[in-house]
Amino acid sequence: MTGAGTGELRAHAVSVVVDGRALVADVDLTVSPGEVVALVGPNGAGKSTLLRTFYRARRPTSGRVTLDGEDIWGMNGRRLARGLAAVLQDAPGEFELTVYDVVAMGRTPYKRPFEGDGEQDRGIVHRALAELDVAGLARAPFDRLSGGERQRVLIARALAQEAGTMVLDEPTNHLDLRHQLDVLRLLRRIGVTALVALHDLNLASAFCDRVCVMDGGRVVADGAPSEVLTADLLAEVYRVRAVVDPHPRTGAPQVSVLPDEMG
Ligand code: ADP
Ligand code: MG
Repeated sequence: MTGAGTGELRAHAVSVVVDGRALVADVDLTVSPGEVVALVGPNGAGKSTLLRTFYRARRPTSGRVTLDGEDIWGMNGRRLARGLAAVLQDAPGEFELTVYDVVAMGRTPYKRPFEGDGEQDRGIVHRALAELDVAGLARAPFDRLSGGERQRVLIARALAQEAGTMVLDEPTNHLDLRHQLDVLRLLRRIGVTALVALHDLNLASAFCDRVCVMDGGRVVADGAPSEVLTADLLAEVYRVRAVVDPHPRTGAPQVSVLPDEMG
């Protein structure tokens, strides 16, 4: 895949203020080339808002976002799209397109206006469909798919974009266990630089190099899963009691949330 392992993504003191309220407050975050970083935190922590600033859907009120050192707001759309692909949460489903067409949209930044699919593009689209286990749905209308199937198609589109860096907002939402693992294994296998919002802390622990925790718009912890995922942090940030043990086979921290109420 072109660009794999390149694409340092960085937020420099990024804040997003709406009506006087900081949804994202002074966030510094670096995803180094080839790293897969989990972005976790309770609902409303500001994860999606921060991710939007990375794929240029929202301009920071202050601070900068850079890809390989270059401010993304200074890049033209095609060049940014070749470097960075986004998989969004609850993407609109009213496309009157087939699954194939949706995935083929990933090739747009490589084409001249009105240029059709070349053989190479078709090969890339077919590989992406197969990778996400949706080749059998290629001719199906996108808006008839289940939530999980749609999610996989949108990830296939990002894959077909062949960007070295991906930003994914809860890509495992709606996915069954097998397909959740497939998505994270895929990110690791292709060597993409990725920032991925996840709710499942055990998936974050098993697959990510680092876990970055947001709460109230701020980054409150950022480090290796074993440094960050502690019972104290879970109590503080999520207000739950939990036991954290090493996974019996991999040694990665495993979070077991206890049913008890916090005192
Ligand atoms: P997360 O993805 O971590 O659940 P979000 O980034 O979606 O959090 O939201 C963070 C906070 O910002 C929430 O309280 C949400 O209601 C608020 N919020 C999100 N978008 C807007 C907006 N456009 N205008 C005002 N408030 C917003
Ligand atoms: Mg969100």
